[in-house]
Amino acid sequence: MHVADLPLAPEYVDHFEGAGIEELYPPQVAAVEAGVCDGDNVVAAVPTASGKTFVAELALLTAGGPGLYVCPLRALAREKYEEFDALPGVDAGISTGDYDSAASDLAENDVIVATSEKVDSAIRNGAEWVDDLACVVVDEVHLLGSPGRGPTLEVTLATLRRRTPDVQVVALSATIDNPEDIAAWLDAELVESTWRPVDLRTGVCADGEVRFDDGTDLSVPVDAGDPATDADTEATVDLVRGAIEDGGQALAFVSSRREAEALADRLTEERLAAVAAGRDRGGDGDPDAPVADPERAAAEVAEELRGAGTTGTGERLAESAAWGVAFHHAGLSSDHRALVERAFRERRLAVICATPTLAAGVNVPARRVVVRDQRRYTGEGTEWLPVLEVHQMCGRAGRPHLDPYGEAVLVADDADGREELWNRYVTADPERVESKLRDPAALRTHTLALVATGLAGSQVAVLDALSGTFYASRTANPDLGGAVGDAIASLIDDGMLAAAEAAEAGSGTAKGSAGGDGGTGDAGSGIEATDLGAQVSRQYLTPETGVRIVEGLEAVAGMTDEDVTELTAFEIVCDTPDMVDTYLGNAERAEIYQFARDRSAELTTGMAEATDFEAWLESVKTARILTEWVDGASVEELVEAYRIGPGDLESRIERAEWLLGAADALADVVGVNMPAFASARAKL
Ligand code: ADP
Repeated sequence: MHVADLPLAPEYVDHFEGAGIEELYPPQVAAVEAGVCDGDNVVAAVPTASGKTFVAELALLTAGGPGLYVCPLRALAREKYEEFDALPGVDAGISTGDYDSAASDLAENDVIVATSEKVDSAIRNGAEWVDDLACVVVDEVHLLGSPGRGPTLEVTLATLRRRTPDVQVVALSATIDNPEDIAAWLDAELVESTWRPVDLRTGVCADGEVRFDDGTDLSVPVDAGDPATDADTEATVDLVRGAIEDGGQALAFVSSRREAEALADRLTEERLAAVAAGRDRGGDGDPDAPVADPERAAAEVAEELRGAGTTGTGERLAESAAWGVAFHHAGLSSDHRALVERAFRERRLAVICATPTLAAGVNVPARRVVVRDQRRYTGEGTEWLPVLEVHQMCGRAGRPHLDPYGEAVLVADDADGREELWNRYVTADPERVESKLRDPAALRTHTLALVATGLAGSQVAVLDALSGTFYASRTANPDLGGAVGDAIASLIDDGMLAAAEAAEAGSGTAKGSAGGDGGTGDAGSGIEATDLGAQVSRQYLTPETGVRIVEGLEAVAGMTDEDVTELTAFEIVCDTPDMVDTYLGNAERAEIYQFARDRSAELTTGMAEATDFEAWLESVKTARILTEWVDGASVEELVEAYRIGPGDLESRIERAEWLLGAADALADVVGVNMPAFASARAKL
């Protein structure tokens, strides 16, 4: 099937041909046959790089009205936005938090790119564009199974479909075990394929030999290497080096930030840019050809990294980049992360040593992917990575048009390890995707939102609104009545919901009527959001965060004015579940403890009162960092003093900005004068 055969205006056909898309890939043909250009709902579960974006574009261009593209990852959202905006005559808008179009502008756009949280927030704030949509494309729909974000995605999609029943839904997924369940939920035709534009072979390396699933093998000449490193690392180094010698690039996945930096350090000894240079001498000007002078290119990348920030981490990154090696993890500043990703795509870096986060979203394919570590640290120990996650790492292997094939290698300790990894990841299917909506915290959040937006005014109506969720479609007897009853009762306790006036006049016992036993008796009685509940929902806070802010404000009301400082404001918002935790090491614990004692008059929680003292002390650490930031400390100083990465600081500043704004709005509702929220926010 050729693009010219599709129901597309000639300017689009020209555009796609210009981008090298002429003959459709087999999964794209299947999506067209499933009705993606005819307004039909389609779920496509296909591997990375098999052309999902084009399927999305077909849906958006043929839907005959405004489209929404829901994208979970911000870095990817930006890429997609640029791609859609480049379509002739298409005006795209973006709402992800960091590159937002003005909210009022979004209504004018032909295509809106947003995270599911932003769509949810837009619905809660009464955005009208959500009712005009002709088409919704959901990328990475397998995230329905993620505990934090899955419930938001399913409730948002259910709400959109309820409000606009004719909207076309196209959902794109990685290869998962049960895409048919997602298709059944969305009344969609399922397109399932394992086709890839570049062949992929996956294998396990043990005792100096890789055995691949296509029956081939490869010996890895593990030399003694650096006695300071272990055999897994040396095998990884040899696999990476081999890929570069062969004319490719490599990605190496390890379990932690520290490991990523240590591996990068070890790899710089291999002089990979020079290896690539020996191989590539005399590139011929073809944009797909290797860069002409990899050593110079690497040196330029190092300079660009130095230009984008001068922290210790940034300097270490620049030093290794000069050898063609980079590391990538959440502690890096977003500028550095973006530079590394781009330089790698432009083939100016030979290898990236990354934590698993890189696997999920960003488009950085490589000839060879080496997964050195397959376990990750949790609070208590280590656990195996999910199969889906390891498959996504492996799926990064093989660059279309550039590599003759892709190779993914899992590194095992020994023969027993080989068998374990083989069974666990090479031959195994990825996990099933199951709903996480039953989680009480998720139900509280979404129950409050449904009532506050006026989409539901009773327990029965909440249940009805949730009947369109993935959870309900997956569960024979979804009986959420008890759980929703509990959510309503606890929200009434927290002062966020109340019996609707009519009901109140009648019985005045909304709490009892919504009670946790399923509440069948009075489940139909009216409930409404209080001013507090409405504001919590509009500000996109979890109810728990709303409760904590209100407690903080009550404490503030009893404090003298001079004790209420920006530290007070930061302590309140940092001690909420919506702020990211900051690790508190043993070495600094005593110091933070002392700080909390010295400044206890400014804190809303007494040292003896904290229910979870350790968690509170961590919040005090975050609050202290942010206080020093607004007082003028530099990124370098904070990174050095608190042993956090520049990326960690960025994420906390961004959260604080949102939470302080929200807390300011709640202070108005509660009637407490707390100017420190606004003043701290203004200085971030
Ligand atoms: P993914 O499925 O991972 O989202 P993309 O949509 O990003 O993959 O596509 C991967 C690459 O393949 C892109 O560079 C895209 O331009 C290219 N591509 C997509 N469809 C075709 C096609 N039919 N012919 C040639 N190249 C294509």
